[in-house]
Amino acid sequence: MKTIHLSKSNEDIIVPKIFCLGKNYAKHAVEMKSDVPEKPIVFMKPSSAIVHGGAKVKIPPMTKDMHHETEIFFVIGKEGKNIRKEDARSYISAMGIGLDLTLRDLQTELKNKGNPWLISKGFDGSAPISNAVPVDSIDFNSLELKLTVNGQLRQQGSYKNTVFKIEEVIAFISELFTLERGDLIFTGTPEGVAQLKPGDKLHAELIGFTSLDVEIA
Ligand code: ZN
Repeated sequence: MKTIHLSKSNEDIIVPKIFCLGKNYAKHAVEMKSDVPEKPIVFMKPSSAIVHGGAKVKIPPMTKDMHHETEIFFVIGKEGKNIRKEDARSYISAMGIGLDLTLRDLQTELKNKGNPWLISKGFDGSAPISNAVPVDSIDFNSLELKLTVNGQLRQQGSYKNTVFKIEEVIAFISELFTLERGDLIFTGTPEGVAQLKPGDKLHAELIGFTSLDVEIA
């Protein structure tokens, strides 16, 4: 089982599952030529998709178009079901920056046929994650992220522009799924997603808190 490193307690804990949100920034929905969702669009990656900072991620032979999506993620700190929005914050222990690597050509083909897009989003290496830092009493609306590729700015965004806030997402997901300690929730990408090439060096930041470096092979 793959793990996440918690900076504060200096421990690695198992990640049971990874939830992700689709189209959770309006401008990204627009660049994907789709509507801003009325309910959270939730999908999962297997824990086996995780790699950590310093990893080299190979572009799978099945694709010609692997994209970066840079996303703030939250770490669940304790088990819960049917969590109320007002209580959701107490279930979040930590946060970090991650990449939702996406095989866009496969995803588009699968979506067009109405099929699950799992293989385009859940493959090995598709979830690079930083170490996680405690959320303490941080105002999430102050969180900012950015991604540079080979030193050039590719994506930047502010959590305050997310469509569905994490508290609402936790309430929504936990109506159907038990949340477990170590689960990750990726909160979606701002605009600026683009293709990656072998040799690209990615540097993603949750500005002021933590960062992640990955190389594409
Ligand atoms: Zn994403």
